[in-house]
Amino acid sequence: MSGYTQSQRLQGLPPYLFAELDRMKQEQVKKGVDVISFGIGDPDLPTPPHIIQALAAAAADPKNHQYPSYEGMLTFRKAAADWYRTRFGVSLDPATEVLTLIGSKEGIGHLPLAFVNPGDVVLVPDPAYPVYQAGTLFAGGETYCMPLTPARGFLPDLGAIPAAVAKRAKILWLNYPNNPTGAVAPREFLAEAVAFARRHRLILAHDAPYSEIAFDGYRPESILNIDGAKEVAIEYHSVSKTYNMTGWRIGFAVGNAQILAGLGRIKQNMDSGVFQAVQYAGIAALSGSQQCVADNCRIWQERRDVLIAALREMGFSVATPKASFYAWVPVPAGFTSSSFCADLLAKAGVVVTPGNGFGAAGEGFARIAFTVNVDRIREAMDRIRKLGIRGG
Ligand SMILES: *Cc1c(COP(=O)(O)O)cnc(C)c1O
Repeated sequence: MSGYTQSQRLQGLPPYLFAELDRMKQEQVKKGVDVISFGIGDPDLPTPPHIIQALAAAAADPKNHQYPSYEGMLTFRKAAADWYRTRFGVSLDPATEVLTLIGSKEGIGHLPLAFVNPGDVVLVPDPAYPVYQAGTLFAGGETYCMPLTPARGFLPDLGAIPAAVAKRAKILWLNYPNNPTGAVAPREFLAEAVAFARRHRLILAHDAPYSEIAFDGYRPESILNIDGAKEVAIEYHSVSKTYNMTGWRIGFAVGNAQILAGLGRIKQNMDSGVFQAVQYAGIAALSGSQQCVADNCRIWQERRDVLIAALREMGFSVATPKASFYAWVPVPAGFTSSSFCADLLAKAGVVVTPGNGFGAAGEGFARIAFTVNVDRIREAMDRIRKLGIRGG
C-alpha cells in the first residue's frame, strides 16, 4: 500500500545509526567478505550459566506464565536495592525507589513522555546514545546539545548553557562511564550536575549501564552517592552489559520516587512488566556471586590493551578508556568520520561506527566497540595496517 505518510515525529528523527550500519555490513557479507564488526555495543560473551539455570527453572513454573505487574516483582526490586547498597552504599526503598524496566532503553525512551510538554527543552550530550534525543522528540520536546570535547574530558560545560535554555529545561541527561567516548566522570562533576539540577529544578537522569565494566582498579560512582541527589535524580541500570544479557530485556531505574512514579504511569498505560522468569534470572544475576563480572572485566581489559596498543602503533592518538568497552578514536587527517568508516568497511571489511552518528560533535571520531575476541582484534588491526592508514 502506498499513501501512508509517517508521522512528523518519525520524519523528524535522524536515521537510526545502527540500522544503517547493519545494512552496509550486510552488503559486504553478501559479497562474501569476512566482516569483522566493532560496530554495535553488544557483548559477544555468553550469559553466565547460573543465570540461565534460574531462567529455565522459573520458565517451567506456570505461575510465571501470566501478565507480570508493570513495575516489577517486589523480590526483583529488593534484589536491585540490595545490590545498590552493597555496590554503592546507597539505600533505596524497593517499593517506591526502584522501577523494573524492559531493558533500560525502554525507560530512557519513555521518561520524556512523563515530564516533557511540547516546547520544553531536554539537555542532551553530543555525542550520545541516540535514545535520549528520540524520546525527547517523540514527546514533542526540543533537545539542546551539550558538546563533549576532548579538551573538557568529554564532560559537558554546564556553565555554558544559556540561562534562558536552562529555565525551559526539564531533563538533563548524563551517561558515565560514557557511550560512545569511553570517558568517566569524576565525583566533582557529578556533584556539579546535582547542584545544577537543584538550581534549575530539573530532572537529572543518569544512565549508567557501564558502571561495572571498569579497569585498572577504577570503580565508577553512583550519582546517588552525591548529597541531595535523590531530590532531583534517577539512575538507570541495566543487567545487559554487566552480565552479557542484552537479549533478555531487563533493567531498572532507581532514585527519586516522584520521578519514578511518573515513568511508572507511562509504563502502566503502554506496556506490561518483564516476563517473571526473566526477573528471576535478574535476581540470580544481582544477588549471586559477582565473580562472573570480574572475569568479564579481565576479558574486556585484555582486548582493550591489545586494541589500544595496535592503534597507537599505527599513529592514532587514542585515549585508554578506564571503563566501558569503547575506544573513541580520532580519525586520521584527510578523513571525515564517514569517509574513514566507509573506507575501513570497503577496503578492510572492518566495521567501526562513525562518531557523527552519535551527534554533530562526534565528527572527527570513530567508535570501536571491543566486543570481538583478541584474535579477531589482531586480524582487524593487521588489515587496517596493510591499508597504510596512519593515525594523526
Ligand atoms: C546499551 C545501552 C543502554 C541500553 O541497555 P538496555 O538495558 O539493554 O536497554 C542504555 N544506555 C546506553 C548508553 C547504552 O550503551
